[in-house]
Amino acid sequence: MTKKLPKTFIDQQEKKLREEKIKIEKELSQVAVRNKKLKGDWITKHPQLDGGRLEEGTDEFEEYENLLPITYTLELELKKINESLEKIKNGIYGICKKCQKPIPRGRLGVYPQAGQCLKCQK
Ligand SMILES: [Zn+2]
Repeated sequence: MTKKLPKTFIDQQEKKLREEKIKIEKELSQVAVRNKKLKGDWITKHPQLDGGRLEEGTDEFEEYENLLPITYTLELELKKINESLEKIKNGIYGICKKCQKPIPRGRLGVYPQAGQCLKCQK
């Protein structure tokens, strides 16, 4: 039995997703720049050393390396948020993309951009 999510709940989720999106884009813009050639992709900023190459072992290089996983994580979250917003638009929000079963509301409440249920996540 699949119960449709109430509109008020979805509206709430959409609001949360939009707020989260703004937050993540802000964080991303501190560590990365938008890839103009590829929509939704971000490139980690790296210090410009007079146009030269980054030398391994330097502080700048280390800093850049530390930023890479941060960019990756934020980018992934942003992707999930965009996917969820798209699902809301298409009326399929809250459905697990693997097993096609509804994701429990409790899970969506704490993690609005969840694309799959906990069982499939594992
Ligand atoms: Zn599932």
